[in-house]
Amino acid sequence: MPPFYSYCHLEDPAGACPAGFEFEWEQVARDLPLTVCPHCGAKVERGLTAATIRPRKFNCELKDLGFTKLVRVDDGLFENVTRRPGEEKYIDRRRPETFPDLSKTVKD
Ligand SMILES: [Zn+2]
Repeated sequence: MPPFYSYCHLEDPAGACPAGFEFEWEQVARDLPLTVCPHCGAKVERGLTAATIRPRKFNCELKDLGFTKLVRVDDGLFENVTRRPGEEKYIDRRRPETFPDLSKTVKD
């Protein structure tokens, strides 16, 4: 399991970066620390904390947490890897009947 390092943007990207102000980056020991954000290209610095080793979220955990994760398999076609009973395995953007029922899983 490669370690994850936490990084911070030197300046708050204020929504311009999909990773947010702080993010974690998986890094193998021989890699040099990142100096720019792999997501938006802005300058970043590595957090002072030592590497943390922590497992990724597995699909089944995401499901238990109530998330729906879709993986794109083709243009407009997604696999619902956190499929619950009664949900379609493949979601076709052109076929609304294949969409998971998000009202059941997303709570305010
Ligand atoms: Zn960024």
